[in-house]
Amino acid sequence: MNIDLHNHTPLCNHAEGEPEEYIEAALARGIDIFGFADHAPMDFDPNYRMYFEEMEEYETEVRELARRYEDRITIRLGYEVDYLPGYMDERVLNAEVDYLIGSVHFIDEWGFDNPEFIGHYENADLNKIWREYFAAVEAMADSHLFDIVGHLDLIKVFNYRPEGDIRPLAEGALDAIAAAGMTLELNAAGWRKPVAEAYPSLDLLRMAHDRKIPITFASDAHKPEQVGYKMEELHALAKAAGYREAADFRNRERRLLKF
Ligand code: ZN
Ligand code: FE
Ligand code: FE
Ligand code: ZN
Repeated sequence: MNIDLHNHTPLCNHAEGEPEEYIEAALARGIDIFGFADHAPMDFDPNYRMYFEEMEEYETEVRELARRYEDRITIRLGYEVDYLPGYMDERVLNAEVDYLIGSVHFIDEWGFDNPEFIGHYENADLNKIWREYFAAVEAMADSHLFDIVGHLDLIKVFNYRPEGDIRPLAEGALDAIAAAGMTLELNAAGWRKPVAEAYPSLDLLRMAHDRKIPITFASDAHKPEQVGYKMEELHALAKAAGYREAADFRNRERRLLKF
């Protein structure tokens, strides 16, 4: 089974290509279960996501495509939701979808993965930033609002890393993810970024496997040609950590399939 549950659409204002083109790319790549998880609306940084008024259009279109393509590919409907206290909205959290991906893209409203604000790293205490980041992931897991953890170690995106072993920094977050019963995505987008590796690293993925945290796969495509990006490499990474099954979601219920 080839699964890719994290794909965007132009509604978020920073992705390109029509949803049909993403699906055609998924068919060409041999994907069996393909999920849209576009950036959910939020009254913060509103221009990098869909607007609340567009949720219905998004959900209707994906459901419609799922029906149209059902003989050829399984299409799922989800959202990538920012974990940002004070800005999470019931309309998103209670949406009737197959799954919600919870992602941390902000530390105290600093968009740490946005190249526009990269200057903030220069004089920062990297150990403190990494601790704050993983504390936010831990709080996200403790919130029990989401099904999948988006790009677990996104904070490495520009290669600003603290000295030494980073595993202890992620321990609390991984314990909380396991306790919450969340699924972890293996996300290929990191290979398209300065860090040039998947999220999460093999070290952290091994910690997840020790805690029996299930996984799923994500290309995080923002254009059709990125669908299924480095899928074989993601599978190899998962196998290296001991995984043989990956998760699919329907109506927020998980099932595990061999990949
Ligand atoms: Zn995006
Ligand atoms: Fe993200
Ligand atoms: Fe994404
Ligand atoms: Zn993402």
